[in-house]
Amino acid sequence: MVPTLTGELDEVVASVADRARDLDAGHADTRVDITAAGAAGLLGRGVVDGSLASMIEVIERVSSVSLSAGFSLWAQRMTIEYVARSPEPLREKHLASLLSGERIGVTAMAAGLKQVAGLGEVPITGRRGRAGVVASGPIRWASNVYDESLIVLPVRTEGTTLVAVVDADAPGVDIRSAPDLIGLGSTASTSLELTEVTIPDDNVISADLTAFVRGIRPVFLLLQCAFCSGAIGAALDGAAESLAGVNEVFRPEFDERTAEFDSIRSRLAVYAAEPTTPSPADLIRLRLDAARTAVAASRLEATVCGGAGYATGTATNRRFRETAFIPIQSPSEGQLRWELAQFE
Ligand SMILES: Cc1cc2nc3c(=O)[nH]c(=O)nc-3n(C[C@H](O)[C@H](O)[C@H](O)COP(=O)(O)OP(=O)(O)OC[C@H]3O[C@@H](n4cnc5c(N)ncnc54)[C@H](O)[C@@H]3O)c2cc1C
Repeated sequence: MVPTLTGELDEVVASVADRARDLDAGHADTRVDITAAGAAGLLGRGVVDGSLASMIEVIERVSSVSLSAGFSLWAQRMTIEYVARSPEPLREKHLASLLSGERIGVTAMAAGLKQVAGLGEVPITGRRGRAGVVASGPIRWASNVYDESLIVLPVRTEGTTLVAVVDADAPGVDIRSAPDLIGLGSTASTSLELTEVTIPDDNVISADLTAFVRGIRPVFLLLQCAFCSGAIGAALDGAAESLAGVNEVFRPEFDERTAEFDSIRSRLAVYAAEPTTPSPADLIRLRLDAARTAVAASRLEATVCGGAGYATGTATNRRFRETAFIPIQSPSEGQLRWELAQFE
């Protein structure tokens, strides 16, 4: 991919790199990075300005120094994508503050994607009340969850499943305390419970989850590939430093991972230019390849780095733990393999 962005991105990446260790240790959170990217005008690429390729570059480069920050940026950017596809009043109300990073966005859409794939039902249910839809149920996991966040979530009602925005501090929203994680501890990832939360009709983004997911899915998957790709590049750079001497025996694996990385990046560039043209199966294949290569590359890096990479304070160890998240991130490796099998 040809670099297209200038000094603003370099500054954001340098700041994330300086904070990567604190982020990993949970001594900082990624709001600072979201706000910095917003202030630099980097969050709306491919939706309100610029190209999707340049958004991929932003997420890829940030993820190459911290997957925590890259993942949080992805979640923010997806919230922006959803709101940008909303009716005009919702766009008016929320888009600018999400783009600037003043408001933090939460994509609680995993259950929605699973339902559309035919793998279960959205657990948040809604019934019609006097002031809108009254929603109750769990969000098993979501990231960027702060009291001041804006959450996008699916609600299953009789006859249809909606996509709506909810303020994280709305009455009836209970944010559970975040569990200790092996990585991504700075991403405010936790579970929530909704009890009789009133969602006014004005807060509905779409009354048709299936059509909505079909629309956002290419961008959703391509931007996930971007954070995988950032992690792969960093792991291969880390591995390359230790490939001499006895470790020359790992050269064939390193070359294979490098070839996979090149293939992922070139497909990403082609698909980003026309996100609606790759077939659903091709998109799933790319996302699966990106997930598997991220895990394999960080595993290779840890192996060739030896004991140094086993110490939790090292970047090698951080990548090893961070990339363990990728196969379970929705759509999980299990879901992607299951979906791909439907096409083959
Ligand atoms: C740190 C962290 C941050 C996260 N952030 C977000 C976020 O911001 N937004 C968001 O939407 N989600 C988020 N998630 C959730 C994530 O995207 C996945 O949905 C979640 O990790 C899946 O784990 P689960 O335990 O809910 O698994 P389940 O969905 O219960 O799946 C468990 C296993 O079973 C497989 N499986 C799934 N469905 C079926 C089925 N019907 N039949 C058979 N097997 C099945 C899966 O492939 C998986 O291997 C986050 C998760 C974590 C750990």
